[in-house]
Amino acid sequence: MNDRPNSLHALDKQSLVHPYTNLAVHQETGPHVITGGDGIYVVDDEGKRYIEGLAGLFCAGLGFSEQRLVEAATRQLKTMPFYHSFAHKSTEPGIRLAEKLLSIAPVSMSKVFFAGSGSEANDTAIKLIWYYNNALGRPEKKKIISRRKAYHGVTVATASLTGLPFNHRDFDLPIANILHTDCPHYWRFAETGETEEDFATRMANNLEAIILEEGPETIAAFFAEPVMVSGGVITPPKTYFEKVQAVLRKYDILLIADEVICGFGRTGNMFGSETYGLKPDMISCAKQLSAAYMPISALMINEKIADALVDQSRKIGTFSHGFTYGGHPVAAAVALEALTIYEEIDIVGHVRSVAPAFQDRVRKLGEHPLIGEARGVGLVAGLEFVKDKVTRENFPPAWQVANQAGKFATARGVLTRGLGDMVSLCPAMIIDDEQVDDLMTRMGLALDDTL
Ligand code: PLP
Repeated sequence: MNDRPNSLHALDKQSLVHPYTNLAVHQETGPHVITGGDGIYVVDDEGKRYIEGLAGLFCAGLGFSEQRLVEAATRQLKTMPFYHSFAHKSTEPGIRLAEKLLSIAPVSMSKVFFAGSGSEANDTAIKLIWYYNNALGRPEKKKIISRRKAYHGVTVATASLTGLPFNHRDFDLPIANILHTDCPHYWRFAETGETEEDFATRMANNLEAIILEEGPETIAAFFAEPVMVSGGVITPPKTYFEKVQAVLRKYDILLIADEVICGFGRTGNMFGSETYGLKPDMISCAKQLSAAYMPISALMINEKIADALVDQSRKIGTFSHGFTYGGHPVAAAVALEALTIYEEIDIVGHVRSVAPAFQDRVRKLGEHPLIGEARGVGLVAGLEFVKDKVTRENFPPAWQVANQAGKFATARGVLTRGLGDMVSLCPAMIIDDEQVDDLMTRMGLALDDTL
């Protein structure tokens, strides 16, 4: 019935290339069309209602029916639907949003550059790292270190930073000058008897070893998400960022915090950098910046980088970088309203109040025979599947079990996805205690179905 000529399903299969989709399987299954949403729920074209277990793509923090965001967009569309910020032009929403972001930044930041997506913000950070070192007369200091399992986007450069093999395979990536160091996943990679602190020391020592091997004068920056969400909801082991940052300071290496998922409350603070003590030189954010109602991202830069950009303009003129839609006034107005709502409803306080029950129930799911580790912080969590709880061996191929669990979750009324050897949970941050209970009960049943 779904494949009637000219049905949405048939047209989708004929017309669309879907991101992060097995395109061969899609020709058989067709799409799952989502038509509406309310609160933490979405509804499909057959009228079935689901808890959106990932807030879309870790982004719709205020759920799917926040009218104030609709009104903010409408107001701005009526006043000034588009203007750009190239060549000295500006719009009020962009100015006010930049000022607001600087006022809530977790460390002192000086300026904001707007783009349309997390990838564009991170891609901009990479270009600024190179531009900054050229401005400082250090043309050899260009290499950037990221981590295995990191996710920083899909452009040529950010997919190179991403430390997931399937993002590189057959795309001819990574590009030169990008290096990957350890993924700091204690449960998976600690040696027998190693404490979290010792593990963190080893991670920092390994980082320092790479820097020394390459030559500190060639290493420009280190990129890190406070919590590596897409790579497996990997929270940093105790003292990790403290030790890593000591190494970075020693060799004059910039730290870029990718707050694309962690930003705006998700970890129980406004920024993940606060939760884990990062003192970044640049911060990229997107997703919950506008609660996902409009595509917008921001890159905050500190004073030394901002000053170098201005100095460089004195030397060579125009700063030749920018996106047509960077700081789009409608997107900026919506983001500004989202930030206002976060403050008014005290989203951080709310996340802190529901997170203990959420994490507690996640840990209980960790007792399931299929789950090796249940982990997370705030309102983001991951469940890693193992074939054997003692040896921690994953299933071969791991994604098959996770995909299976994702399908059973859908049947139980929760949308989530298998990501590698795990499923994640990252609901809209407005979720309440009763809804947490419902979500976890359904997930427990889905795991039983997967057994
Ligand atoms: N950085 C992180 C940590 C992300 O999770 C993502 C997307 O999931 C990105 C960057 C890329 O953002 P976008 O998909 O908006 O380009």
